[in-house]
Amino acid sequence: MSDYKMLIGGQLVEGDHAMDVINPATEEVFATVARASERQADEAIEAAATAFPGWAEVPLAERQTKVSQLADAIVANADRLARALTQEQGKPLAEAQGEIAWAEGYLRHYATLQIAERTIQDDADGLIRVRRKPLGVVAGIIAWNFPLLVACWKIGPAVIAGNTIVLKPAPTTPVTALMLGELCRDIFPAGVVNIITDANDLGGYLTADPRIAKVGFTGSTATGKKIMASAADGLKRLTLELGGNDPGIVLDDVDVRATAQGIFNAAFLNCGQVCLAIKRAYVHDSIYDAMCDELARLAEAAVVDDGLAQGAQIGPIQNKAQYEKVKAFLENARRDGTIVAGGEIIDRAGYFLRPTIVRDVTDGDEIVDEEQFGPILPVIRYSDIDDVVARANASPYGLGASVWSSDVERGMSVADRIESGSVWVNQHVAIGPHIPMAGVKSSGLGVEQSEEGLAEYTQLSVINVARGG
Ligand code: NAD
Repeated sequence: MSDYKMLIGGQLVEGDHAMDVINPATEEVFATVARASERQADEAIEAAATAFPGWAEVPLAERQTKVSQLADAIVANADRLARALTQEQGKPLAEAQGEIAWAEGYLRHYATLQIAERTIQDDADGLIRVRRKPLGVVAGIIAWNFPLLVACWKIGPAVIAGNTIVLKPAPTTPVTALMLGELCRDIFPAGVVNIITDANDLGGYLTADPRIAKVGFTGSTATGKKIMASAADGLKRLTLELGGNDPGIVLDDVDVRATAQGIFNAAFLNCGQVCLAIKRAYVHDSIYDAMCDELARLAEAAVVDDGLAQGAQIGPIQNKAQYEKVKAFLENARRDGTIVAGGEIIDRAGYFLRPTIVRDVTDGDEIVDEEQFGPILPVIRYSDIDDVVARANASPYGLGASVWSSDVERGMSVADRIESGSVWVNQHVAIGPHIPMAGVKSSGLGVEQSEEGLAEYTQLSVINVARGG
C-alpha cells in the first residue's frame, strides 16, 4: 500500500509499481507513492480524452468556480502541504508556506481570466468573429524545484481554457502533486484532472501519444528539445519553460550593502534551484571587492539546515544526482576562481552544501557559462557597460536578468539591451500570475501566465460570415 495514490478518471488508484520518496535533508525514505505503468499512463490519457468534450462545454464561469475551489482546498490543507513540500523538496518551511500561498494566488488569478472573443467586422458586408477554443488533452510535465506551484501553473490555465490534463511531476517530488490530486478528485468531474507519477520513464510516452494535443513543460533545455522532437509528428502545441543562466548586472552607483542583499536573496532562494535565480553576478570594477566581501558575509551568516528545523534559511539540494552535479561545479570553480565563502560539504546526512561565493572567475569558466542550479554564485568583474551587455547576451539562455543601479533611468536603459524574457531593475524573480513569463533563445518557447499564457491553451478559430448580396 502506498501512502499517496494517483488520480486517474476520478479515482485515487494504486500504481502498478510503487516508489520510495527520499527526504533530501536526511537521505531517508519518508513516503512511498504509487507509480504508473504505461498501461496506467494510457488509462489517464483515455480518461482525459473521454472527459474533454463535456468539460469543454461547461460554461467558463463554472470552470472558474472549480479553480477557485481548488485554491480554497489548498488553503484548507496548507499546513500539511507545506510540511510535505519541505520533506520532499528540502526548502525551509517558511519557503514551502510561501510556495503554497503562491499556488493559491496563481489559481485565484487564473479564475478571473476571460477567454477573449473578438468581433473584427460586423456590418452589412459580413460578420467576422475570432474565437478561442480549447485544444483537448494537455500533458503537464514538470521539474522538482517548485512541485506544487508549477503543478498549479499547468492545471489552472489548462482547465480554465476548457482542456483536460494529465499531469506528471518529477520522480523525486511526487508527493505534493499527488496530494493535489486528492483535492482535485473532490472538485473536478472525473477525468478532467489526472495525476500520474513515474520513475523518469513516462514523459516520452505521454508526449508521443496522439491523443495529447498540447504539452506544457517546465524543465531542462535538454528535455525540452526531446519533447519538441517527439511532438513534431502530431504537430502538438508546446509551451516550454526551460533552463536559464540569469545575469545580475551591478552598475557602479549602487548602495553595496542593500544590493548585495538583493543579489544574495535572488541567487540562493530555494538553495539556488530556481530557473530564474541569479546565476552570474557582473559587478563593476570600482565596487567589485566591496560587493564580494558583502556577499561573502551574507553567505557565511546564512543558516543551512533541515527545512523543518527552526531558523533554517537554506535547505539541502533536492536530489542526489543534482548534488553530485553541483559538487563537480564546485571543484571546477575552486580551480578557476577564489572561493570567499562556503565551498564546504557539510558533514552530516543530507545533500547539504554551504552557500558559496566564488570570485575572480570570468566568462568561459564553467561556473559562469553553465546553469549550476545550486548554491554557488560566481561574481565576475567588468569595467565597461557595452562589454558587460555583450557578455550577458552571449549566453544561449535568455530567461531572466536584472540590472542594479541607484539611477532607475540608467538601469532601464541597460535593461533594454538585455536579450531575455524578463529583465528586472533593482529586483529579481519578481513574477506574478498577471505578468507574462517567457524565455528567449534556449530558455523556452511560448508564454506562461497572464492572458497571453492562457491563450496558449487555446486554438484560435475564425468564423467569417457573408452578408448582403
Ligand atoms: P528535467 O528536464 O530533467 O525533468 C523535468 C521533467 O521532464 C521531469 O518530470 C522528467 O521526468 C520529465 N522528462 C524526462 N525525460 C523526458 C522526456 N524524454 N520526455 C518528456 N518528459 C521527460 O529537468 P529537472 O532536472 O527536473 O529540472 C531542472 C531544470 O528545469 C533546470 O534547467 C531549470 O532551469 C528548469 N526549470 C525551468 C523553469 C522555467 O519556468 N523556465 C522552472 C523550473 C525549472
